Amino acid sequence: MSTPVSLTPTSFIIRASGLVKAYRSGGGSVTVLNGIDLVVPRGEFLAIMGPSGSGKSTLLNLLGGIDRPDCGTVQVDGVDIGAMSAGQLAAWRASHIGFIFQAYHLVPVLNAFENVELPLLLTPLSRQERKERVHAALASLGLDQRSHHRPSQLSGGQQQRVAIARAVVADPQLIVADEPTGNLDGEARDEVMSLISDLNRSLGKTIIMVTHDTKAGAAASRILHLDKGSLQSEVQLGAAAYKLAAAGELALDRRSP
Ligand code: ADP
Ligand code: MG
Repeated sequence: MSTPVSLTPTSFIIRASGLVKAYRSGGGSVTVLNGIDLVVPRGEFLAIMGPSGSGKSTLLNLLGGIDRPDCGTVQVDGVDIGAMSAGQLAAWRASHIGFIFQAYHLVPVLNAFENVELPLLLTPLSRQERKERVHAALASLGLDQRSHHRPSQLSGGQQQRVAIARAVVADPQLIVADEPTGNLDGEARDEVMSLISDLNRSLGKTIIMVTHDTKAGAAASRILHLDKGSLQSEVQLGAAAYKLAAAGELALDRRSP
């Protein structure tokens, strides 16, 4: 007998609804996100693509609880993150969401070990437990020999690997990545993409990655396009294109004798 597949609320690690975000500019305000609804199943590798300035980082920051929407709600793992105070949210984020940024965002005066340890300082782990976790994360990214190096002593690819170690050290289920290959090229870019794919495939992490690099986007299991403040899926775009093509063909048919 087959078991019916049911999507319980926790099947979705992200449930965002009605997200609106506007920024003041000059005298007026510019609406960047215009009522975004998004659900992300647990274990998905989602890419959000769109032109520069389309609001990709703004959306990712709302989903990751770095910023708050003007309207709408974000639930991560069943928790309404808008209901938390800034302090509660910072502590919750440290153990539930890993962040990877285009420019790495490592603290320049801290070495690799200390950078990776940062999210753990907001958890109840002991000093010894933190040390073990940080060494394991650095080793899993091939950085065991680099723990005393500061960011300026590392290549771009190595810095991004330190940032990936920092993103996974607290073992969060969700990783958000904003243009993670944007400052890299060639081998370093491919290496970072393959590490991020591995987090999804081998460790089952849910990944939400913003990128305008089509090669990076191709690694994802679903691609959404952000344009003019709204999200469109590949499938919808495909269906729309299909309808247009079909309409065009019909028009041609009617013209043919
Ligand atoms: P993307 O990541 O797709 O390039 P962003 O989310 O960074 O886009 O920005 C979307 C739009 O919002 C841009 O027009 C940008 O100038 C504007 N914007 C982003 N952050 C701010 C801010 N803090 N204050 C004012 N405008 C902002
Ligand atoms: Mg951006």
